[in-house]
Amino acid sequence: MIEHWENLDLLREPLLDWYDAHRRILPWREEPSPYRTWVSEIMLQQTRVTAVIPYFTRFMAELPDVRALAAVSEERLFKLWEGLGYYSRARNLHRAAERIVSDFGGTLPTTLAELRTLPGVGDYTASAIASIHFGAAEPAVDGNLLRVAARVACCGDDITDAKVRKRFRDRMSNAIDRDQPGKWNQAMMDLGATVCLPNGSPLCGDCPARGFCAAYRERLTEVLPVRAEKRARRAEERTVFLLLSHGKIAVRQRPEKGLLAKLMEFPNVSGNLDESAARLILAQWGLAPTSLAVCGTAKHVFTHIEWQMKGWRAEVSGCCDALRWVDRAELDALAIPTAFQVFTAKAQNLLDDARSNSGDK
Ligand code: SF4
Repeated sequence: MIEHWENLDLLREPLLDWYDAHRRILPWREEPSPYRTWVSEIMLQQTRVTAVIPYFTRFMAELPDVRALAAVSEERLFKLWEGLGYYSRARNLHRAAERIVSDFGGTLPTTLAELRTLPGVGDYTASAIASIHFGAAEPAVDGNLLRVAARVACCGDDITDAKVRKRFRDRMSNAIDRDQPGKWNQAMMDLGATVCLPNGSPLCGDCPARGFCAAYRERLTEVLPVRAEKRARRAEERTVFLLLSHGKIAVRQRPEKGLLAKLMEFPNVSGNLDESAARLILAQWGLAPTSLAVCGTAKHVFTHIEWQMKGWRAEVSGCCDALRWVDRAELDALAIPTAFQVFTAKAQNLLDDARSNSGDK
């Protein structure tokens, strides 16, 4: 496969013209500011644009600037983030906002190097902010840019390889429009997201690169870009407990580190427990069930793990220091991760039933 990196230079002018006519209208591009670009780029990691838009709008209404973000409680922040997943992103946003207030007077730093020092800000996000707002000629290299570049230049190297990505970045640093680097980055993002689509289905007929794109010419759009096979996801069985006592349900906080760190959850253990094993766990927690029944199954897929969950619901007596008992309003105010959404809905129903049975309406 002969590479044609010079095609990236040919793309510069038609790409910017195409962007003028076809750019996506996105809320973070209206009234643009470094803060809005930063928050949007963090939300967009691992998440589709259409899913992000309502979250972004809600987030900006409540936390319109860095100082508001730095001052918000973690619990409220997680609630605003609830459903977006990958909560470490929210945690890093918060820590970064605190640093911006303490070290940079409440406004985002302007250089790539300083931006890179903020928690959760990698090369891609720093380049996006620095190019869009501060004129830095830095390509914001994400999956969209890699795909467009691999096809236009006809490069068959594995784009999941860090060394290859560095080479792509160097090539794109040469090709970026030095007068309008932010526009060039956003145009490449939009071209990748709306025309040069993944999985072998690009809309080449609508593309400003069609006249010189090497993958199009060589009929290689189906095979480019090349990605090494992903590692298989590990399946993990878990048993989730919906424990009711005096009209309240048990929740607990996850550990400080690791998957879904510090978020609230329904108590759960690894394994697919039968009734006697479930009774044993309750006894270990100091709880005695007066009723116990299976309450559904659910599956949740994380990046590297898949949880296969089974639920038990129980009326219990006794006490356990590791658990917090919450009523319906308190449960609704908590950010329970989406992984538990099937059980959250069941818990809400159980609490509503318990309230109606007690005659308290
Ligand atoms: S011509 Fe087709 S493959 Fe080439 S950049 Fe455009 S959409 Fe992608």
